[in-house]
Amino acid sequence: MASSKLKITFLGTGTSTGIPMIGCKCEVCTSNNKKDKRLRSSILVESATTTIVVDTTPDFRYQMLRINNTKLDAVLFTHPHKDHIAGLDDVRAYNFFQKKPMDVYANALTAEALKREFAYVFADNKYPGIPQINLHIIDETPFVVGDVPVLPFTVWHHKMPVLGFRFENFTYITDANRIDEAVKEKIKGSDVIVLNALRNEQHISHFTLQQAIELVQELQIPEAYFTHISHQLGKHDDVEKTLPQGIHLGYDGLVLYV
Ligand SMILES: [Zn+2]
Ligand SMILES: [Zn+2]
Ligand SMILES: [Zn+2]
Repeated sequence: MASSKLKITFLGTGTSTGIPMIGCKCEVCTSNNKKDKRLRSSILVESATTTIVVDTTPDFRYQMLRINNTKLDAVLFTHPHKDHIAGLDDVRAYNFFQKKPMDVYANALTAEALKREFAYVFADNKYPGIPQINLHIIDETPFVVGDVPVLPFTVWHHKMPVLGFRFENFTYITDANRIDEAVKEKIKGSDVIVLNALRNEQHISHFTLQQAIELVQELQIPEAYFTHISHQLGKHDDVEKTLPQGIHLGYDGLVLYV
């Protein structure tokens, strides 16, 4: 593995409802294990000089407070579902003390949703104090944020295109249930992958645990962490014990150096 260049922090590893889910009394939602408390899925990617968040979940503000984050250079969006974009308004804090607009990277579909769901941010006559956003519409062309090279690629969430991101030897994919063969070639060679694994039962738009395991093995990536986990998957420690070598469940607060 190349020398450690990036620090990856798992800000959230839960599916759209989070764990615990409101009102649920199941053994996962009532577990006392901290690893069974999952905010909505997001990671922070940090180099020596650059800090990037992938998605702004409904928990974004608390996720940043929880890790004492004080600097953010850019937001990368995977797709427009609410559990991935809802927290965008809270980039205002960074606008205030960094005194500049936030660079936001999204594909065309997500950009359209941001303009619709955060219309006030993009209005001609802006109310004072609203988020300042510098929106970059991206496709699968590689780009650089500060000193971090980013390779975006498209995976499928039922019929919705979702961006996955490769940062050198580290790949992050959430909310997928299908990956085209040509895109698998872009992912191969990663040392570490984060991949969504919702539960054991089939789902129309998410990989199951078994499908995620098979994909990691097919791609021959030596180290994998699963995210976007449902309370239906079971308790963290019980599931973790059943996984093949090199494959783990992610959990909130997990830090990797890649
Ligand atoms: Zn999601
Ligand atoms: Zn539950
Ligand atoms: Zn989604």
